Amino acid sequence: MPADTRELVVAGSGVAGLSAAVYAARADLDPLVLEGDEPGGQLTLTTDVENFLGFPEGVGGMELIQRGREQAERFGAEFQHGSVEAADVDGQPLELSLSTGETVRTRALIVATGASARWVGADGEDELMGYGLSTCATCDGAFHRGDDVLVVGGGDSAMEEALFLAKFADSVTVVHRREALRASEIMADRARDHDDIEFRWNTELLAIDGSQESGVTGATLVSHPEGYPSERYEDGEDVTVEEVDVGGVFYAIGHEPNTAFLEDTPVELDSDGYVRTADGDSWATTATAAEGVFAAGDVMDRAYQQAVTAAGTGSMAALDTEEWLESTPAPAAEAAAASMEADD
Ligand code: NAP
Repeated sequence: MPADTRELVVAGSGVAGLSAAVYAARADLDPLVLEGDEPGGQLTLTTDVENFLGFPEGVGGMELIQRGREQAERFGAEFQHGSVEAADVDGQPLELSLSTGETVRTRALIVATGASARWVGADGEDELMGYGLSTCATCDGAFHRGDDVLVVGGGDSAMEEALFLAKFADSVTVVHRREALRASEIMADRARDHDDIEFRWNTELLAIDGSQESGVTGATLVSHPEGYPSERYEDGEDVTVEEVDVGGVFYAIGHEPNTAFLEDTPVELDSDGYVRTADGDSWATTATAAEGVFAAGDVMDRAYQQAVTAAGTGSMAALDTEEWLESTPAPAAEAAAASMEADD
């Protein structure tokens, strides 16, 4: 085992990675936390978190992350810029090639790389992302004072984005592809009850108009009374197509797990790219199919995706890793023990 091999690297510094880092640092595993492309993860893009246990008045997403990082650092976790671009996890030590050009060797890896916002696929989105089209209302909402804006999606994120945007925009229209919201009742009620938020049911976005100079100036919507209109449009069915004047478009249609670097490795991914954990007769809930590789947070959780569940699986991954490290001698130590036995 090369001398520079670390005990544990945590890939990702969102709530799952930070929780793993706190537990691992307290267990003296000297974790190195790779901050990833979006340091702090999705909570840094949110406003108030009202359902994280212990904060009866709610807590800002950014504040929660900053405090988590301080907590991990207090116990000795080390933070480093960069994300994992390629991973050789076929044998020990694991080798991680980072976006910074460095290679890091480690006995164990906790994958807590989270998920990134999904895009609709509308015409014009590649050119206009960041120029009036956004996946983050808390980041870009204030640019839309007095605008009419669209929010695409029907889940909690869409409701949260719409409510936040209503503080700045003249009007917010939630565009949802069917008639029932996926969002929780409490979030849906808040959005439905808001005077400046409207809903366009059974409607999808086909195109966004504008330019990088002038920003978003309009959008093309398609609708059909039975929902999922863009599929019908592509199939040549009779649908209603309409141009609307808007100054901003926000995507809130869910996220995709950040696991490209694990494709073609022994870590198993499901058909949507989520890491499979605890398959077969594995003893550890967060263990992946690759020895020494564990996963936590949104990258392995397609069902719950809450801040508190990410923190929970982060702590589980650290505990599972600790047990694995204790029960699995490092190859060099194994070889030394074998040669001592042979000498006896
Ligand atoms: P989500 O629950 O998966 O909802 C995604 C929404 O986007 C769905 O309504 C879906 O429509 C729609 N959609 C997906 N692909 C689409 C496409 N290509 N075109 C048009 N619409 C599309 O995702 P989320 O809202 O990001 O929430 C993810 C998780 O985070 C959830 O567990 C949620 O509870 C949680 N969350 C919680 C809070 C909170 O409690 N404050 C805030 C944000 C997120 P269909 O409904 O038709 O599938």
